[in-house]
Amino acid sequence: MLAENVPFPTRPAPIAKSATKALAPGGVPSDRGRPGTSPSALRSVRRQSTIDAHDLPRYQKAFGDHDPESLLRWAHGRFGNRLAVVTAFQAEGIVLLDMLRRITPDLRVITIDTGRLPAETYTLIDKVRRRFDIDVEMLYPDAPSLAALMQRGGPNLFYQSVDDRLACCRVRKVEPLNRALRDLDAWITGLRRDQSPDRADTPVLARDEAHGGILKLAPLAAWSEEAVWDYIRAHKLPYHPLYDQGFTSIGCAPCTRAITIGESARAGRWWWETGSHKECGLHLPSPTETTAASTGGA
Ligand code: SF4
Repeated sequence: MLAENVPFPTRPAPIAKSATKALAPGGVPSDRGRPGTSPSALRSVRRQSTIDAHDLPRYQKAFGDHDPESLLRWAHGRFGNRLAVVTAFQAEGIVLLDMLRRITPDLRVITIDTGRLPAETYTLIDKVRRRFDIDVEMLYPDAPSLAALMQRGGPNLFYQSVDDRLACCRVRKVEPLNRALRDLDAWITGLRRDQSPDRADTPVLARDEAHGGILKLAPLAAWSEEAVWDYIRAHKLPYHPLYDQGFTSIGCAPCTRAITIGESARAGRWWWETGSHKECGLHLPSPTETTAASTGGA
């Protein structure tokens, strides 16, 4: 929430101009001369440019936790248009879009239109499109799958049980994203470790074995909520208006509410559930993510 009394934290260290150069040699293996790194060539390359598991710690060590812009610059240079940021236009996503837009005008932005988003989210998407002069690729649920789900449980089946809620998330979110990720070599998320205990081990980069071993980036994994808002204020970026109404994590309208004092940041998601993981299935950790976190590289 962007309340006036939120203290301004110290921003992460600014990116040194030489940061990218400093990554090689001895750090990130150089991509110079790699075949197929031109944008046109990248379109025809499938899953050849992801990183082997045994190389991952070198990359994690080279980028560390606090150099998101260098990580994004490297990822764009390496993956081109087979890299996309997947965002629900929460605060972290806005920060990432701003960083990426300063790296390239040619960024791919993907969002999932579940059909149950708050009206404010659509308004924000329009605002962000204009602010950054970008296109947004909208993903939609498979119509027959959604119809079958609604036929079985009705439009609000998510309130009936955790299994029904997960079924709704699967059809409206997880399956559309899975289809989109098949055409990517890397994706960028706004995950942060202090958002929830389930995200506490999030590495800044990992092989996403749940999606074919493509690379999954979480450049802001080590950032605090305050650091995110500090960035948004400093750069005068647009943000979701529901934050000003006490929301701290914003998803579908019927499944999200504002939190109260003392509640965790994701307590407003599926608030009627107790004891469940506050996740929809988009970000289930894979074995290599766990391994990556334990290497100290993230
Ligand atoms: S957040 Fe709610 S409405 Fe949205 S996909 Fe999940 S269960 Fe369905």
